[in-house]
Amino acid sequence: MHEEAGLSYQRCRWCGTASFRRLLCPVCASSDLQVEHSAGLGVVVRSGVVHRYTDAARNESLVRLPEGFAFRCRVVGAAPHQVTVGAQVRPVPGEDPDTGEVVFELCEPPRRDDWY
Ligand SMILES: [Zn+2]
Repeated sequence: MHEEAGLSYQRCRWCGTASFRRLLCPVCASSDLQVEHSAGLGVVVRSGVVHRYTDAARNESLVRLPEGFAFRCRVVGAAPHQVTVGAQVRPVPGEDPDTGEVVFELCEPPRRDDWY
């Protein structure tokens, strides 16, 4: 199951709002959510680096999906500071199923020479 491409998300049966990993609709607070499947191609709308000057630096981005929801996740496929706003990303299948962390990778990674 973890190899399946894309993401599951919820859509409110009452107002149609799409959300991700919520128990209640963020707009009308309904719990009547139906699970839908997203192709998972997203766009980075905010990008930051956590622990910027340590070896453990990692990217933390806000990614928006065309279905209308956005969430925080980690973007890989480049050095953390090279994840730029507007970049297209796709989910990495099977990443850390225990924590359920969502990890995306850049659709078009920068040239490796430029990483550092
Ligand atoms: Zn709703």
